[in-house]
Amino acid sequence: MILEVVKAPDKSLHRKTEVIEVVDEKLEKLLDDMYETMVENDGIGIAAPQVSSRKRVALVQLTPEDELFTLINPVITKKSGSDIFVEGCLSIPHVFGTVERAEEIVVEFHERSGNFVEMEASGFLARAIQHEVDHLDGILFTEKMIERIPEEELEDYYQKYEEEHND
Ligand SMILES: [Zn+2]
Repeated sequence: MILEVVKAPDKSLHRKTEVIEVVDEKLEKLLDDMYETMVENDGIGIAAPQVSSRKRVALVQLTPEDELFTLINPVITKKSGSDIFVEGCLSIPHVFGTVERAEEIVVEFHERSGNFVEMEASGFLARAIQHEVDHLDGILFTEKMIERIPEEELEDYYQKYEEEHND
């Protein structure tokens, strides 16, 4: 079921989430609905508060061909390096801007199956995970935004970034 995406400045986006104790049918349904909602909105990540849930869970899938990460109770245990790149958010339509994030992270979480995972991530995957974990702590990317990039200048920004990082 496609759920309604909570939009800023709704205060519920700033609430802290609750640690998940058990993956039950209700949570399974929430995960299915979050996935459908993310895909419907062309998102690459979605966190439970964005669909009015207080559960500490988020999904990340960079492209439909990439692995879907279900991050239950994620904790970022290591951060290194730094990178500045543009971000957007399903809860803040048409707003894009640069955010500084760690370039490499180690994140611990439980998968839907209950498996415990400790995973290293870098680059855009690391950025997406940091963005989603922030949601679970009630933080929106706009609170960390360095510079807003007008929507019509995004193409130019991506092009310039590629040129600067390809030599
Ligand atoms: Zn977001």
